[in-house]
Amino acid sequence: MSVVSEKTYLYPVGKMLRKHQMPNQKPEEVAAYRINVNGIVQGVGYRPFVYHIAKTLRLNGFVLNSGNGVLIEVEGRPGDCLQFIERLKVEKPPRAVVKTFSCVQITPRGHRGFRVEQTLSGEVETLCPPDVAVCKDCLNELFNPNDRRYLYPFINCINCGPRFTILEKLPYDRVNTSMKTFKMCRDCDKEYSEPSDRRFKAEPNACSRCGPTARLYHDGRLIRVENPISEAAKLINRGFIVAVKGYGGFHLACDATSRSTVTELRRRKRRGNKPFAIMVKSVEEAERIVELNSSEKEWLTHYSAPIILARKKEPNPVVEEVAPNMRYLGVFLPYTPIHHILMRSVEPPAIVLTSGNVSEEPIIFRDKEAFEKFKDMADYILTYNRRIVNFADD
Ligand SMILES: [Zn+2]
Ligand SMILES: [Zn+2]
Repeated sequence: MSVVSEKTYLYPVGKMLRKHQMPNQKPEEVAAYRINVNGIVQGVGYRPFVYHIAKTLRLNGFVLNSGNGVLIEVEGRPGDCLQFIERLKVEKPPRAVVKTFSCVQITPRGHRGFRVEQTLSGEVETLCPPDVAVCKDCLNELFNPNDRRYLYPFINCINCGPRFTILEKLPYDRVNTSMKTFKMCRDCDKEYSEPSDRRFKAEPNACSRCGPTARLYHDGRLIRVENPISEAAKLINRGFIVAVKGYGGFHLACDATSRSTVTELRRRKRRGNKPFAIMVKSVEEAERIVELNSSEKEWLTHYSAPIILARKKEPNPVVEEVAPNMRYLGVFLPYTPIHHILMRSVEPPAIVLTSGNVSEEPIIFRDKEAFEKFKDMADYILTYNRRIVNFADD
């Protein structure tokens, strides 16, 4: 992290102003700074984070996403301003990556209150935020029958959800994503506009009333069911191969404990003997399938949802055909709400989840292409009506 003009903010602003005060007037010490933060700072809850610190320190000013990261102006008591800057230099929201931090002193402008303002457009230099696995708070809501987002597969907040894969251009604002076609309902808009809410400025914010919906297809025809995801799970239980649209593209899913199904998937994908990775229901289930040490267990639940290569246990519920002649298996946990709902409803402890593509071709991510190319590969297609802008083989 480089700090530009670090010395400027050590200057005691109050004293500078005092020169111009009338002799009997109590000097009002006000300092003001303009701060620019760049890196992965959009779509990771950076503006709400700044807002909270500014509010705690009773500073005035604003924060906004610019084409060049996040721009902040604060003014208030000099000591509070310095504390604000110090905190921004050492603290950050969990998903943010700060690459550069610059700060200059400016003339106070008399801001009242602290606001999250509209985005400035300009030259775009900010890095694109990555997609993040659904967080614990959202998961709790997802499986809480009393929550208004109970089993809603597109639940997200400032700490989780799709970012890169729905982004058309920076800055990262809803109008620049494939969420722009979904108008937030009153409840969602209230969360999005309330600074104390964990969905404050969460750009893909949505619910079942206003957001994207999941759909299940067979032979290009829509199957009308109440819950397409649990229906897809039932099909997997019955030995079908189902294409599932994730954050960044389609995957092919099937029962990892069925010899005939996995063999059939191999044949359709023309996969040869290359191993498949498996999605497991939970860390506990993973431990029944592979040997895991404590750091591997931690990595399994990491928000980047990595695939962990670990030694197979014997005997194993997962059939040998998943990774023939291999002592290791690639395992990972559900990371999108769709995957979580799916895994709750499938019977086997693990499913094969492999890129939806033919041989070495890139992953399929457009619905139209999926309908064509999966004709002979997937028995059913589980998709949704939000466009993937950038594909990612996640
Ligand atoms: Zn979340
Ligand atoms: Zn809504």
